[in-house]
Amino acid sequence: MLKTIEKEISKQAAPPALQAEFAQHDFEKLRNFCRLTYITSIAIWLLFNLIISTKGGQGFTGLSLLFISVMVGLTVILGFIHNYRHFDVLNLIFVLVITLGLRLIIFGLPAETQPIWLALASSSILYSASVLPLSRWAFLSVAAINCVMLNPFLMTQASIMDLRGLLILCYFAFLCSLTIYSFFKLRRVKLHNYTMSKLLVAQAYLDALTEIPNRRSFMLQAGHELQVLPREHDHYLAMIDIDNFKKVNDQFGHDIGDEVLKRTAANIEAVMTGYEYARLGGEEFAVYMSGVRRSDVEILMDTLCRRVREDPDEHPVTISIGLTRVEEDDTLNQALAKADKALYRSKNSGKDRFSFYQ
Ligand code: GH3
Ligand code: MG
Ligand code: MG
Repeated sequence: MLKTIEKEISKQAAPPALQAEFAQHDFEKLRNFCRLTYITSIAIWLLFNLIISTKGGQGFTGLSLLFISVMVGLTVILGFIHNYRHFDVLNLIFVLVITLGLRLIIFGLPAETQPIWLALASSSILYSASVLPLSRWAFLSVAAINCVMLNPFLMTQASIMDLRGLLILCYFAFLCSLTIYSFFKLRRVKLHNYTMSKLLVAQAYLDALTEIPNRRSFMLQAGHELQVLPREHDHYLAMIDIDNFKKVNDQFGHDIGDEVLKRTAANIEAVMTGYEYARLGGEEFAVYMSGVRRSDVEILMDTLCRRVREDPDEHPVTISIGLTRVEEDDTLNQALAKADKALYRSKNSGKDRFSFYQ
């Protein structure tokens, strides 16, 4: 089953809106990891700087302080960033600053060791970028900045023609290609998994026929509202049942019955926008309304009954509704049982109406 769904998803290209949603989700999940990566990068840069300043006898200059301040400043700004596109830009600035800082440190080393250190620094930066939640263009820009700022052949003694230069070139090219390939491959896998989890969640929490939330979704969402939301105003629960629905099926067939179910669900959705509604099963629906007055509920239920009754369709139906005020110590199941009793009253007193639990 899983394999079949996976195959179906791999066949379709993810639309841009889904890709943007994934990128945002990925960034939100990895924001602290990004901060940790920045902090460790600054720490390693500082350590190397201190070693070269002391052992190399070059002294810790004001320029080093400036670099640290800028990098720490960018790390602080990261804490205020909530959009993945802004992170793409911030990361480019960070990479620009740290690669420049690294080049300056490496230029303090003996000339013959500089190309090796540049290659090492470059691969470290590229590897770090490959595990950050970056867009494709942002990652490729990091790779480009890296290739310029930390190029082992730029302003060094290394030549592609000699043995050392050739070895460095091979290592540099291998690592760059591997990291770029891994970035794109992992990004595709992550996007695929995200698409799949969205699809599975939708299937698990939406009713397949009417495409409104199902019982599982209702028990979760309404249960949450019941426990969490403050009671400045009351909470009400409604159970809705289509009247004489069996007759619709018997007279016009199951397909027309399904159409009636879809139409009723659409009417509930239209009237109850902003509240938790669901198809509980069969021809039964429920709505959980929090922060409402009894008069609001009466208007809503009246509107819903009228809308269903007056729906201009060949197969008109009506609905009956049972309502209960949800008490603070009620569980959702207790409230559902009370609403069901009220629904029974509506059915017994002529249908096409709403009644409150007494
Ligand atoms: P009442 O006014 O008392 O509610 O009577 P009713 O006929 O609506 O109630 P009853 O519970 O006897 O009938 C419900 C029917 O709904 C029985 C079942 O065949 C039908 N049903 C349940 N699920 C579906 C569905 O997904 N599609 C269709 N077409 N019918 C369904
Ligand atoms: Mg029923
Ligand atoms: Mg019914």
